Amino acid sequence: MTTVRICHLYPDNMNIYGDRGNISVLIKRLEWRGHSAIVTRVGIGEEFLPGDFDLCYLGGGQDRDQNIIASDLANKAAGIRSAASDGVAFLWVCGGIQLAGHEYTDSYGTTLPGVGILDLETVAGEERLIGDVVLDANIGDDSFTIVGYENHIGRTYLGPDARPLGTVIKGFGNNGTSGDEGAVQQRVIGTYLHGPLLPKNPILADELLTWSLEHRSLGKTSLEPLGDDFTEAAQARAIERAHAKR
Ligand code: GLN
Repeated sequence: MTTVRICHLYPDNMNIYGDRGNISVLIKRLEWRGHSAIVTRVGIGEEFLPGDFDLCYLGGGQDRDQNIIASDLANKAAGIRSAASDGVAFLWVCGGIQLAGHEYTDSYGTTLPGVGILDLETVAGEERLIGDVVLDANIGDDSFTIVGYENHIGRTYLGPDARPLGTVIKGFGNNGTSGDEGAVQQRVIGTYLHGPLLPKNPILADELLTWSLEHRSLGKTSLEPLGDDFTEAAQARAIERAHAKR
């Protein structure tokens, strides 16, 4: 049995569309396999110690919320970059993917510094990109479907060091024109997808858990399948619903 150390960043400021549900999925999918998790909430003014964690999670937030945390996040940036270089797994959602990049110029015209763990930049557009999303996703050798929900004004553009999480089959994705969604670099995943994301996307959840167990010094790890019939049915329904709309 291994205990995975999860950092939940800014849980009081960055948690829209029930994004905190992602933490519950990570905990349960570890417990169902005989492992456990310790979740540490790290908010404004609290120290982020890179050596203390195997997985770092940041949920979404409105521009106002991002402005509130921006200067504190800048103070944590060096430790966050060190954790990413050390192979800690990251899942940063929506406002999170924007702040994982180099900078985010928001709808007020304010440019917020990102922490630089994903090679991307974001600038607010005119209209919000809203709706259900279906992706053909690729992580390493794994190809799988991801479903979720997006609602963002930001338009994100990847640089050469970041790979897309997936190709948009339905929805807008990073910027509504490039056809890609999200970003992956080292063991960092950024995505615009809310839902929350992980309950309907077990393969993605297990990818993050595999990385975090490997970081916890388990070495090469492969998680036994959980027989996700119910979860797979939920994902199939979400895909159906996404294609039926718009
Ligand atoms: N404030 C950012 C935007 O509107 C992110 C929104 C979010 O986290 N849903 O693009």
